[in-house]
Amino acid sequence: MAESADVQQSRHPTDVLLEKAAALGCRPEDQAFAVAMDTEDPLRGLREDFHIPKMKDLPPTDPTLVCADDDCVYMCGNSLGLQPKGVRKYLEQDLDYWARYGVFGHFEGPRPWALCDEYVTEQSARIVGARPEEVACMNGLTVNLHLLLVSFYRPTSTRHKILIEGKAFPSDHYAMESQIRFHGYDPATSLLLAEPRPGEQTLRTEDLVSLIKREGDAIAAIVFSGVQYYTGQLFDMETITRAGHSKGCVVGFDLAHAVGNAELHLHDWGVDFACWCTYKYMNSGAGGLAGAFVHEKHAAADMPKLLGWWGHKMSTRFRMDNKLDLSPGVNGLRVSNPPPLLVSPLLASLDVFQKTTMADLRRKSVLLTGYLEFLIKKFYPKPAGSEMKPAASEPKAASEAAIRPWVEIITPSDPAQRGCQLSLMFSVPIGAVFTELERRGVACDKREPNVLRIAPAPLYNSFSDVHRFVSLLGQSLQAAQL
Ligand SMILES: *Cc1c(COP(=O)(O)O)cnc(C)c1O
Repeated sequence: MAESADVQQSRHPTDVLLEKAAALGCRPEDQAFAVAMDTEDPLRGLREDFHIPKMKDLPPTDPTLVCADDDCVYMCGNSLGLQPKGVRKYLEQDLDYWARYGVFGHFEGPRPWALCDEYVTEQSARIVGARPEEVACMNGLTVNLHLLLVSFYRPTSTRHKILIEGKAFPSDHYAMESQIRFHGYDPATSLLLAEPRPGEQTLRTEDLVSLIKREGDAIAAIVFSGVQYYTGQLFDMETITRAGHSKGCVVGFDLAHAVGNAELHLHDWGVDFACWCTYKYMNSGAGGLAGAFVHEKHAAADMPKLLGWWGHKMSTRFRMDNKLDLSPGVNGLRVSNPPPLLVSPLLASLDVFQKTTMADLRRKSVLLTGYLEFLIKKFYPKPAGSEMKPAASEPKAASEAAIRPWVEIITPSDPAQRGCQLSLMFSVPIGAVFTELERRGVACDKREPNVLRIAPAPLYNSFSDVHRFVSLLGQSLQAAQL
């Protein structure tokens, strides 16, 4: 099952890009290079499977600044993936079936509603590196996090802590705090936050491992994100899992920003549990059906659970005799009957994923994001030694402004430590940069306190998108400075 982990390739993508440019006889910053990269991209056709919004249709676009009918520069798959073209057909099937057959749709039709989640389970399992019986598609992400913590967070007076990232996503942070309180403990003493070293933005694996070694005896559960939503850092989940297990901790991951973005091998890594949403890189639409993973080793474990009728085995579920015959593992955690209107958009997206592999997507992603990094560092480098104030640096012409805006990338440069997203900070006010980008037809997102997250998604973004983004970023930085 394990697909090759191409990320461990020995060379930085920048070197690969420079070599390709040399072979093509152009410079990597030339538009012709981006076009050539798109031409040789074996996944370029997948873009056709998505609706790409037009510049003119994005509400903040300033029509005087853009070519209205151009595709927008969509760099926001980290927040909401684009709509796969296949969604409409599947939804229409559901609506037709319901209109024509009413209740019979539960067990008849192209995707009987009572079984509809099964149509997305196997393909979801493939994407997270799990066995099909280890994955359930249900609920929303935070709901699944709670359901999993009910089973996996079992604090005792000596081992009651949950270890999370210091800047975990608010929903995760609140979920942990409330779970801790639910068990009668106090987040002030039971919630352990992993923080970067002073002056650093991201966490070092070695620091995490020593924290786990040091505190592990008091840690009940380690719950980390796979890819950090703010910094874009991809954590070494295998190492974290091993470190946690060596101290007797349960280890789970929130894969909101990792699923469909990074190669995952949840089963082989021995991760205890995981959950994810599907509206980000999995393109299932806002509020889409979430996923949950429980490792096979826990399939028969006697754990606390919040139950409903859908956890009862299908074969005897409808006897209605109130004698619970629970499905093993994660399927036993299904509470309610599954929503076909949420399954269908996810299925349409999985159809596109099915045309490729995470290994191939990742191979493209490493180059695509490497290209974004290369261009940003080439055109808007942060001058050495500048902290708060931008330094004057070799203006090309005397007429050019003496102060050149710069961009700092806080996401690690090592491709093995990031997914597709780069998080950017600026020497000029971020709110102005964001506004200027939006006026120019760029969809990206600003996260408080001060980053723009730029996420070229390998399923539908192109090297030309990255090239266009960087040129619009240049215009926006200039405009923001005025
Ligand atoms: C997007 C995201 C969420 C959102 O949670 P929902 O339950 O889907 O609203 C939670 N946690 C993380 C880490 C996220 O990135």
